[in-house]
Amino acid sequence: MTRISTMARVGSLVALLAAGVARAAAARDSVVVVHLENHARVPEREWLTAEDEVEAVMRPAGVTVVWAAPLLRPVTAAPRDGRVHLALSLLPAAPSGATHQEGDVLGRAAPAYGRAWVFTSRVADLSARWPVDPARVLGRVIAHELGHLLLPGEPHTSEGIMRPHVALGHTVRAGFSAAQSRRIRATLAARLVER
Ligand SMILES: [Zn+2]
Repeated sequence: MTRISTMARVGSLVALLAAGVARAAAARDSVVVVHLENHARVPEREWLTAEDEVEAVMRPAGVTVVWAAPLLRPVTAAPRDGRVHLALSLLPAAPSGATHQEGDVLGRAAPAYGRAWVFTSRVADLSARWPVDPARVLGRVIAHELGHLLLPGEPHTSEGIMRPHVALGHTVRAGFSAAQSRRIRATLAARLVER
């Protein structure tokens, strides 16, 4: 450590360090680690676009997404590294045998298990009817499902990324409202305290 010669400099350094620590804490609290299982074999080039879209939705909410490899154990038993871990499965199609499934469901989320599923063939079918990049639609559906994991118990909204139907014709990217963003950051902070 560099020596500081005067008390004034020590004081300002301490203030600077405190500000830095506060910033680091705020940044750390708003990080979410998403373990990706690409069972649908989405090609890397498409995935990078989808990833970019997810980040573009999450960033204005003050949340940084860190993508990670699948875990062998449930994400609820993920390493205690001071970060919230979620799992995302990309499946080619919705599991068969589900009796009460709506025809247009693109994804599912189970907040209690920290896990979401997105059905990529349905996303591709839907996107094909619109002049949109399917990879961007995939990213929006993923952001929506992560929203369910980070806003547990909250219903869909009439506007923004938590609308029940993905906005295909919109050129303006839908996002989280200011209130949703605050709740997401609070959820991330509270989950860290619980752990
Ligand atoms: Zn939904």
